[in-house]
Amino acid sequence: MITQLAPDLRRIMAQNPSPLTGTGTNTYLVGQGDIAVIDPGPDLPEHMAAILSALRPDEVITHILVTHTHLDHSALAPGLARKTGAVVCGFGPFDAGRSATMEALAARGLPDGGEGIDRQFRPDVTLSDEAVIAGKSWTLRAIHTPGHAASHLCFALGDRLFSGDHMMGWSSSLISPPDGDMAAYMASLARLQDEHWSQAFPGHGAAIAVPAERLAALADHRRGREAALRQAVQSGPMALSSLTAHVYADTPIHLHRAAARNVLAHVIDLFDRNDLQCDDILAPDPIVSPT
Ligand SMILES: [Zn+2]
Repeated sequence: MITQLAPDLRRIMAQNPSPLTGTGTNTYLVGQGDIAVIDPGPDLPEHMAAILSALRPDEVITHILVTHTHLDHSALAPGLARKTGAVVCGFGPFDAGRSATMEALAARGLPDGGEGIDRQFRPDVTLSDEAVIAGKSWTLRAIHTPGHAASHLCFALGDRLFSGDHMMGWSSSLISPPDGDMAAYMASLARLQDEHWSQAFPGHGAAIAVPAERLAALADHRRGREAALRQAVQSGPMALSSLTAHVYADTPIHLHRAAARNVLAHVIDLFDRNDLQCDDILAPDPIVSPT
């Protein structure tokens, strides 16, 4: 489905709906004539065809920008690059941008949560924080926003923000260590709050009309979960699975596996800040207790 959002902006939604992708991944076409694609999306032939059919006869894709290395966002990058000759731009491979804490946990063998990490992804052009990349009809600025993924970038087109999976309107973000990082996520939310955004275009779901409100609500939501979690362990040690059932009692049960990853992310963050004890963070169901 192709939606013209502005004269210089089109959105194509991939046909990969699921509880974690919502209605499907959003691919954005930025510019007129020479086009930058933000998040080529999942490796589906019909999605590639939809992107190519959205181009007018005089248009070419010159750049493919990837917000983060999850398969539903980046997997089509090599195929679309082969087809169009565009250069692929991103922060780096999936584990680039990890904090020292997550580096250490990954080195000790903390497994990911099966969130579909694209381990093959390698950009042609590496974009560091604040890198500016431009075509004839567009200029984009990369903002490193680790949290949902270590290598996550948001892209600024003037005061319009492409927020990937860092900020969505319909859902909060999955924070699954060691790729996900709660401390980094909160810092990245605060970082975006330093600038004015007229609109935000997320990796899944509809555009966000008042990004400042959404950023504040997401930060509040996490602080609320954190407070609930700290409260729950005050009465004594709890297994992470029980903690998840308690703190996410308002969340449908089929999402509790994902929710447990968020709880793990909070526990690592609180442990790091000396606010909680944890017997063995690498255990299948770690025991969390108050300090
Ligand atoms: Zn996604």
